[in-house]
Amino acid sequence: MTETARPEHRPEQPEGGGTVQPKPAKKPKPQTMLEVTETQRIGPHMVRVFLGGPEFESFPANEFADMYVKLLFNQDGTVPAEKLDLAQARASLPADQVPVTRTYTIRAVDPVNKELAIDFVTHGDEGLAGPWAQRAEPGDRLLLQGPGGRYAPRPDAFHLLLGDESAVPAISRGVEFMGPGARGLVVVEAESAEDVVELDAPEGVEVRWLLRDGAGHSEERLVDAVLPALGGEWPEGPLQVFAHGERGGIKALRRLLRERGVPKEDLSISAYWALGRTEDRFQAEKKEPIGKIE
Ligand SMILES: Cc1cc2nc3c(=O)[nH]c(=O)nc-3n(C[C@H](O)[C@H](O)[C@H](O)COP(=O)(O)OP(=O)(O)OC[C@H]3O[C@@H](n4cnc5c(N)ncnc54)[C@H](O)[C@@H]3O)c2cc1C
Repeated sequence: MTETARPEHRPEQPEGGGTVQPKPAKKPKPQTMLEVTETQRIGPHMVRVFLGGPEFESFPANEFADMYVKLLFNQDGTVPAEKLDLAQARASLPADQVPVTRTYTIRAVDPVNKELAIDFVTHGDEGLAGPWAQRAEPGDRLLLQGPGGRYAPRPDAFHLLLGDESAVPAISRGVEFMGPGARGLVVVEAESAEDVVELDAPEGVEVRWLLRDGAGHSEERLVDAVLPALGGEWPEGPLQVFAHGERGGIKALRRLLRERGVPKEDLSISAYWALGRTEDRFQAEKKEPIGKIE
């Protein structure tokens, strides 16, 4: 199957004349089929997969620090053999045969070696993307859709970057995008000291790690660490926040940021995953009133 635009919908005619304008159909993002060139274990719970191949140069990289793609998987964990129109697949295939997506940050793009890297948290045998990355070998193919992205650090702001392992790739890129004079604080939650990776942060950006050390996930761990890590004083002047990770911790952070009056436009905040839920389930819940964080 090849990627095609959604069929156009004719506007409905409301009672009493006039026209109801339909929402414009979203143009599907481009797809790129890449090949694994190498894998590197970069910690007990993280594997870096390098991807290149003949289509590398058509990958439309963007300028955002949180550049991310949707990876397409068949429900048995294999990668679709060809590019496909997801909307059409959803409309035409039985539910158990529709490919599903998993969202990942592009950790780095290397135009010289013609490859890009994605860092996957490995979290056991459950799921599709994590287990795929653990098994990945040179020559395996991976289908990417996108990229999207939104966050780029501003030069005038104090930066607060908060998250867990799933946000480490985006946070790592975020600090690399900052100028040498940038000021800020990074607080990242991880399982153990062996999971800590070095961040290439400017001198004025302090990096702190919070280790679970077997204590499990907690909604409060990140939020409770922020103010003490700031020395008890909320930063004055322009502030820009990037906060992403497990749903519970993000919910608590959202509350704190609202209490502190951080304007929406200075905030990049979302749950990257949810404990006990697959990405499909979790994304579907976000659209239901009960699943909305606020
Ligand atoms: C914009 C964006 C960027 C992201 N970037 C990255 C990235 O660069 N690297 C990365 O690893 N993740 C990233 N994530 C998170 C990733 O999409 C989810 O973790 C996703 O659920 C993983 O898919 P899966 O198939 O492995 O597991 P799923 O099938 O979605 O879930 C199976 C089970 O595994 C659990 N699970 C899922 N993720 C984790 C985790 N991180 N730790 C522990 N348990 C988990 C679920 O709760 C569920 O019980 C990003 C998410 C978003 C929205």
